[in-house]
Amino acid sequence: MRRPAPAAPAPAHAPPPPPPAPSLLALLLALVPLVLLVAAQADGGKDYTGWRVLRAQPASAEQLRHVEVLVRALGAEGASQLWRWRPATDVLVRGDVADAAMRFLGARGIAANVHVADVGAEIRRERSADAQRRGPRPQDVLRSYLRYDEMNEFMDDLQRRFPHLATVATFGRSYEGRDMKVMQISSGGGGQRPVILIDAGIHAREWIAPAMALYIIQQLVENPSNADLIANVDWHVIPLLNPDGYEYSHTTDRMWRKTRSVTDVPECFGADPNRNFDFYWGVVGVSWDPCKETYAGHEPFSEAESEALAMYGLGLRGRLRLYVAIHSYGGVFIHPWGYSHQKPSDYPKLVALGQEVAGAIRRAGIPRFDVGNCFEMLGELAAGGSDDWMKGVAGANFSYTLEMPVPSFTTPAVHIERYVVPTFEGFRAMGRFVSGVFGCC
Ligand SMILES: [Zn+2]
Repeated sequence: MRRPAPAAPAPAHAPPPPPPAPSLLALLLALVPLVLLVAAQADGGKDYTGWRVLRAQPASAEQLRHVEVLVRALGAEGASQLWRWRPATDVLVRGDVADAAMRFLGARGIAANVHVADVGAEIRRERSADAQRRGPRPQDVLRSYLRYDEMNEFMDDLQRRFPHLATVATFGRSYEGRDMKVMQISSGGGGQRPVILIDAGIHAREWIAPAMALYIIQQLVENPSNADLIANVDWHVIPLLNPDGYEYSHTTDRMWRKTRSVTDVPECFGADPNRNFDFYWGVVGVSWDPCKETYAGHEPFSEAESEALAMYGLGLRGRLRLYVAIHSYGGVFIHPWGYSHQKPSDYPKLVALGQEVAGAIRRAGIPRFDVGNCFEMLGELAAGGSDDWMKGVAGANFSYTLEMPVPSFTTPAVHIERYVVPTFEGFRAMGRFVSGVFGCC
């Protein structure tokens, strides 16, 4: 299939990022004994014992610049990972440099605190709670983080029990050869009804996102009190868009984000599939370094997972009314564009539905849930995301990225219900909106 071209040509390459500041790194390393931690656990997985998440609140452009320098310099040494810029800046920092990083921030008057004291301990808590709460059925989506095979079992089981409502379809194959599946929920209409397309798990470590998607599927198919939501709208839900990365985050590196494809650098794997869509690809907010978290890939749709979703969305053109990509974390609802400060022509409509959704989630018990574009919500532009593609190319009327309202990437399974159930009220609001405006047949 010929790829549709974006509205304007994207440059082949963005300018390289400014070089890291070696002086700062030297300072940090001089402050602490350099301990080269062996980054592997007994089970072969990456060990985050002692790593901390520092939360900084830069209050001026000057302070923000200092934080950027810190993130870049430590990141270049593999000693830190930027988790998000806004509303607060969360940085995962290796234990042996965490105190020095806090002193660096303090010396510049930047408010900062330790948000997670020991990420390794959090991961172990997440795992043990998951194992303890795992119910008799693997399909217990509110009690545990399902693995790839279990998600497929869960969907197959629903299809068996509700054949008139639920159909599992394979729409692509991941880099490592896993089937990519979508649950199509329809109560009739002969394929004429408007479609709400939802996906989750494009970023591997965001485990709460697939949990949310599975709960949506379960509620729409199994709970008769939600019959109004599927009366004149079809829902297509992809619970796991990046199965290779997700499985890797379970077996080897809990903080893995990207796909698992090979790159030009032998020891670095994967691209950021949410920077890989062929709509203003690479113009801003990406890295060209295959070792980095936001590596855009060597060409648009280099990643099988992104391309499969894009083509699936394109196949729904004309029926695709609403698209939502579920991510974590932060409790925000983001509308296009991500590639630019420009506002889409129907910006007021996107904001209005966004506010309705955020209001429903807040009323359900999540104290804070905000709406805005990528820059307003995350503090940076990012091109090549799925939400921009679905609106800009596949013609979705409404397109969003939803960041689950959890405090961190590690959310013990015991807390899945606390976040997923109230957030479902946002999806209910979306369903009612699409049904009211576009519902048919
Ligand atoms: Zn994400």
